[in-house]
This record gives sequence, structure tokens and C-alpha cells, in this order.
Amino acid sequence: MADEERLLELFKCHPYLIDDELENFELIARTYRNGTQPDLLFYKHNPPCEIVIVEIKSGAIDHNAVNQIYSYIRKERNYSGCGNIRGIIIGRTISDNAVKLLQQISENKNINISVKILGQDVPEKVKYCIKCRKANWFNAQKCKYCGNQKFFT
Ligand SMILES: [Zn+2]
Repeated sequence: MADEERLLELFKCHPYLIDDELENFELIARTYRNGTQPDLLFYKHNPPCEIVIVEIKSGAIDHNAVNQIYSYIRKERNYSGCGNIRGIIIGRTISDNAVKLLQQISENKNINISVKILGQDVPEKVKYCIKCRKANWFNAQKCKYCGNQKFFT
């Protein structure tokens, strides 16, 4: 889906839009043995290691999307041996059974997967600061990162 590719590219180039913390992580390409790849995988090397796996849905986050990221987290644990792995799913809405499954995974497996809603927690449309060139929410009055008030149009 074209919209999903656009969002993937946006968050790949500007991971701080997802979480400020991700600025300290390195983006890594990962393919597991069965050929599957998480949308984005961020790695922080300094011990103890820390990994954040991000999945992006341009539509609703459903049961399958939660199972998918959960399986990536388990695969990554085996692959890297890192014990500190969390997930973030980005989507437009989330279904009730997806919420239920996330609660089960959190309680029974002690795995943290957070949800970010497009247009609410993370931007869909951005504009770029003319000074520091970082991406800001399209309706920002001034740059969140440097305070500058001019944007590329
Ligand atoms: Zn700026």
C-alpha cells in the first residue's frame, strides 16, 4: 500500500517523530530465517543492549498486526540474545481484540508493546524546519527542536 510505504519512509528518516529516545539508537536491517523483516528495528549497543521494533499500519491495528510484532520480538530475542526488546505499533485505529491481545502479552509474557495513533501520537503530515531541517507536525508554530519559526513550504 502506497500510504504505508510513505509512512515507513517518513519514520525511517525521522525516527524522533516516533519517540525522542530513538535518536540514540541505530537503525538496523534485519531479515529472519523465514525471510520476514520487521518494518523498523532500532538497536542501542551500549550495554545493556536495547532494541525497539516498530511496525507501521496505514489502517487499523488488528489482532494479526499484534501477533506479527510479537513474533518479531521473539525472533529477535533468539537472533540477538538481547533481553531488552520492546515494540511499538503505529496505526490509524486499533480494534478491541488487538487491545485485548496486547494486554495478554503484557501480563503473561511481560513484553511491552505500545501503540501510537497516527495524527494523535505521531504525525502523518509534517513540515521541515528551515534551520535544523528536522520534521515537525504540519501545524507546528515553531520548530520543536530549535525554536525556529520558518519552515520549508
Ligand atoms: Zn529546527
